[in-house]
Amino acid sequence: MKPLILLGISCGLSFMSVNPLAADEPNKAATFALAIHGGAGVPSKKEMTPEKETAYRAKLAEALCAGHAVLAANGTSADAVIAAIKIMEDSPLFNAGKGAALNSDGVAELDAAIMDGATRKAGAVAAVKRIKNPIELARLVMKKTPHVLLIGDGAEAFARQQSVKMMSPEYFITEDRKKQLEKIKQEEKAKPQSSLDPASHVLGIGTVGAVALDKHGNLAAGTSTGGLANKMPGRVGDSPLIGAGTYANNATCAISATGQGEFFIRSVVAYDIAALMEYKKLSLAAAADAVVKKKLVEFGGEGGVIALNRQGNIAMPYNTEGMYRGSIREDGQPQVLIYEK
Ligand code: ASP
Repeated sequence: MKPLILLGISCGLSFMSVNPLAADEPNKAATFALAIHGGAGVPSKKEMTPEKETAYRAKLAEALCAGHAVLAANGTSADAVIAAIKIMEDSPLFNAGKGAALNSDGVAELDAAIMDGATRKAGAVAAVKRIKNPIELARLVMKKTPHVLLIGDGAEAFARQQSVKMMSPEYFITEDRKKQLEKIKQEEKAKPQSSLDPASHVLGIGTVGAVALDKHGNLAAGTSTGGLANKMPGRVGDSPLIGAGTYANNATCAISATGQGEFFIRSVVAYDIAALMEYKKLSLAAAADAVVKKKLVEFGGEGGVIALNRQGNIAMPYNTEGMYRGSIREDGQPQVLIYEK
């Protein structure tokens, strides 16, 4: 793997280090580590402009630095996951929070989940339309309710009770997402049957996720998304489903997934990776590759995952053209990748 091109951003530390570890390489000595993704639905290399690429790289680096600051200050892996994800939820570049993909009614319906690897407690929300940072609400579900998943109106009533920041549904909608929806609807008119095939659904471009290992040796994983563009109102994907799009267990790994949720749900992707490690004793990289590059491909599902274990090994396999992704360790040097090279 080629050392990636860094951006000149180094979380405020000196920017002198050369030949950083490529993001997919293991580092067994890590005391803390963070990996993030910004979705497997990247534009083809031909469609990617230098301006777009710079903007994505900068925002991914900012998210890595936000998580790094938490971990360096002895914070928990769950707090680091949330810090990194919030930066991406607030950015219109990603399919989460502001700028989320729109459903077929032109509304942003948001899903998010977080899981703590030490306790295996988890919290998730689905189909919320007003929560500025759904990942924050997911954490409150984990911490302050006896439940794992709250949806729609009930989730929003709980958010009001907890004084969580709410926005009008218009806040989430961007011009780019309106254009994306319009284009998909036009294409669908030409071939109406394709809408029944989950494989035909366009990835929203930019679902976000994070996995972290803190100095206390604990893992956490989180994912936040607007789901698939032009999804039916009420559709829920894999991201808020524990074991499908999000999973963390100190005994194995932390996983956040991105891709066509229907395939990820039916393949129970995140838990399948953990199970291969637990029962078949596969390494993190071998387990993640087996699921993403073999099982999912054979099943017809597109996407990828970020995976991290307690030794600080990171794997970020995908079976699409690219995946916005990055990692950071103690040295505070964000490493960002989009395509294979
Ligand atoms: N997995 C998400 C979903 O199906 C979408 C994505 O990752 O782009 O809701």
